[in-house]
Amino acid sequence: MADTAEHRTGRTVHVAGQWRDAASGATREILDPADGLPFAVVAEGDEKDADLAVEAARRAFDGGQGSWPRTPAAERAALLRRVAALLVRDRERLGLLESRDAGKTVEEGRVDIDCVADAFRYFADLVAAEAPGRVVDAGTPEVHSVVVHEPVGVCALITPWNYPLLQASWKIAPALAAGNTFVVKPSEITPLTTIALIDLLVEAGLPDGVANLVTGPGGSAGVRLAEHPDVDLVSFTGGLASGVKVAQAAAVSVKKVALELGGKNPNVVFADACASEEGFDTAVDQALNAAFIHSGQVCSAGSRLIVEESVRDRFVAELALRASRIRLGRGTEDGVECGPLVSEQHRAKVEAHVASALAEGAVLRTGGKRPEGPGWFYEPTVLDACHRGMKVVREEIFGPVLTVETFRTEDEAVFLANDTEYGLAGAVWTADAGRARRVADRMRHGTVWINDFHPYLPQAEWGGFGRSGVGRELGPSGLAEYREAKHVYQNLAPRPVRWFGG
Ligand code: NAD
Repeated sequence: MADTAEHRTGRTVHVAGQWRDAASGATREILDPADGLPFAVVAEGDEKDADLAVEAARRAFDGGQGSWPRTPAAERAALLRRVAALLVRDRERLGLLESRDAGKTVEEGRVDIDCVADAFRYFADLVAAEAPGRVVDAGTPEVHSVVVHEPVGVCALITPWNYPLLQASWKIAPALAAGNTFVVKPSEITPLTTIALIDLLVEAGLPDGVANLVTGPGGSAGVRLAEHPDVDLVSFTGGLASGVKVAQAAAVSVKKVALELGGKNPNVVFADACASEEGFDTAVDQALNAAFIHSGQVCSAGSRLIVEESVRDRFVAELALRASRIRLGRGTEDGVECGPLVSEQHRAKVEAHVASALAEGAVLRTGGKRPEGPGWFYEPTVLDACHRGMKVVREEIFGPVLTVETFRTEDEAVFLANDTEYGLAGAVWTADAGRARRVADRMRHGTVWINDFHPYLPQAEWGGFGRSGVGRELGPSGLAEYREAKHVYQNLAPRPVRWFGG
């Protein structure tokens, strides 16, 4: 294992511009999900490393004149653009690394890196085009009143394993654009591209101490970042249970909290969308994509197919047939369409969900087992005859498992689409433009697609209703998360107010 960004053996904690071992000296092997074998070693940081990283970020933030928070917006934007250019330069290397670490196909890895570069460009453009503040009419010429938006301070950025660098970039790019310093803690099982990004930030010229990184588990390094009194904001993407713990830990020091949590996302298909052969083919193809891309390990995966009863039989038969043909394999192999699940434990969790669904009466149309051979693969699975009372319909599975429910009326379709504690994303498929708008208006989800599934835009907010989270990433709100508003009221003609007689 070479001493490169990918395989910087053990020395993967980045504090104040220096790469170092974990304070305890502990390390962790990073495993390839396609064969379960180790291919890199990283530092297993803990509370001590988190403390050192926060201290460095605090120093860099409080550094006064010439420090990152006081750097003009145009210069911050220029640095972000340089990072985007470096990502383009290193696209192939980073795409491969993401593929190997997270178990996705190389093409998915490349697309991820393109999206990461887009995020850096978007926030550079946004911050460069802004007015420096908003003048407020105080109702008298004797007062000059302005509202400015300042960086919030030291940000703790905690990210998951499914889109390791993309989720990190949705936090790092706006945090830097707004003038903050940060400590990022990637998932302990997929830290490699985030480590590589730190190298690119250094190469682009970011001052020491602005970007710090701790590799290590959530239960030690993550908890410490969430509770640390010198952290001003924690932005977390991950599961619901961990998100609740982060919010609780952050509450003690009353820091700002942004949570991007799970989803149980409905894909509603009306019969009229399938009236033509072309419409049927498109709706089936996109339902397949919604549920099975990256083996369903996508927060916005369309894992609940809610299809009009009159087309159910034909739709599900075709979907199951196409799901059974998805080519599984190592992401670097030609022709592979889906990689493995990220870990052995995660596959066991998915298997338990399928077993519980079958015990509750679901009908298996395809999949439902692991294929022969090494790696943590699981076959794309379609479970028919599901209903809202089932655990498999209510809980996020985060694997290649699609449940099928049916409806007869528009009201019933909307009811089922909203019948979830989550509210991240959902789609409606229909040829009727009026119905499309009616249903989309009534869906309680942060993103609603009409006749599509999965696309997002960096300039449009991303986030969830309900227990899918708090706050938004991307779009102008994604920058606002990393700022505090400050009202500066200047009295141009001060005189006594005589409220008190003395
Ligand atoms: P996870 O909650 O297990 O871990 C996420 C991150 O939090 C990791 O870095 C982990 O080490 C850390 N962590 C865990 N417990 C912690 C704690 N108590 N305090 C602080 N940090 C802690 O999630 P995961 O399994 O890595 O990712 C999958 C989840 O992420 C799914 O639920 C998925 O829906 C969600 N996700 C959501 C979005 C979104 O945009 N809403 C995007 C991607 C993933």
